[in-house]
Amino acid sequence: MSNLKYCQGPDCHTYSTQDRLKGMKGSKTYQTRRRSFLTYGEFCDTRCYNDWFNKYGTQAVNHFGRLKEVKHLTEENAWQKRYDWDSNYENRTYVYLNTITKEQRPLTEEQYNDNNYTLNER
Ligand SMILES: [Zn+2]
Repeated sequence: MSNLKYCQGPDCHTYSTQDRLKGMKGSKTYQTRRRSFLTYGEFCDTRCYNDWFNKYGTQAVNHFGRLKEVKHLTEENAWQKRYDWDSNYENRTYVYLNTITKEQRPLTEEQYNDNNYTLNER
């Protein structure tokens, strides 16, 4: 059963819920939750997610790069992927919408799902 993922919440084991109580009868302990799928990525719930961020968030921001100046929404980076359903809710029409100029450009489903595809300047 090594396919189980451990919740990364630093205090997960301290929350005394019935499903965390594991072990042999007489020596049960509250333990970190293990799941084949964790609902919140690396965490079992929002409490563990927030615990992690409160403990490590500043370190994570410093590690991955702290924002040191304001960003501006301009025509060059205002493209957002959108879709609309047809009247029968069977087919989607994908478009790239510039939220400033309101210009729309057609988009394929593949482009919509491709997280690296963008019209925005980085
Ligand atoms: Zn947890």
